[in-house]
Amino acid sequence: MKTIGLIGGMSWESTALYYTAINREIAKRKGGLHSAPILMHSVDFAPIAALQATHDWEKLGDEMASSAQRLERAGAEAIFLATNTMHNVADRIEAAVKLPLVHIATPTAEALLADGIERVALLGTAFTMEMPFYIDRLKNSGLDVLVPEVDRTNLSGIIYNELCKGIVTDQSRAIYIHAIQHLMARGAQAVILGCTEITMLIGDDDSPLPTYDTTALHAKAAADFILS
Ligand code: GLU
Repeated sequence: MKTIGLIGGMSWESTALYYTAINREIAKRKGGLHSAPILMHSVDFAPIAALQATHDWEKLGDEMASSAQRLERAGAEAIFLATNTMHNVADRIEAAVKLPLVHIATPTAEALLADGIERVALLGTAFTMEMPFYIDRLKNSGLDVLVPEVDRTNLSGIIYNELCKGIVTDQSRAIYIHAIQHLMARGAQAVILGCTEITMLIGDDDSPLPTYDTTALHAKAAADFILS
């Protein structure tokens, strides 16, 4: 099996989901006592979130490039960055290491296109919903992308103030469902849970639209790489 390098801790709540999902997939596919060869660098999220808040993407790029280099030196064979938002510095990581970076939007777009989805809603942090790095990548793969017209600050705040701290409430779930209903009325056929913590709050059982969970899809891509 190959060894992956996982940059985590953003937040650790969702990195724990990655760790479980990747290992479960390997156990399912290889059987017995098999588990996933993973090197992980789990960062302290507080200074990262502070740099995001001041839009210091230069420094964030340096931090992520340094994490990737540490994983490369330790023997990782590919880099997986366990957050959608921080893919804003994906280019910086790719320039810093010889390893491939498996972008979180790649397996996400592939899953949507395989299911015949053309118009998809995107929920995530304000950075992911408002900056071009994620939306453009989805559009370039042929998808029509809708983001909420209102309430983006509130939706993003729920991620940082609650989900990243492990707080899951019915009130916040209702806010997300309301946003999905609006996106459905605008023609979305499915919704991307484009932040690795949203799966803690909603899934196919609550959502009026089919959900595409980036955490699960990226973890599955990691297992695919390990077994490739
Ligand atoms: N985990 C989140 C994401 O997937 C947000 C935390 C972060 O800003 O990295 O975007």
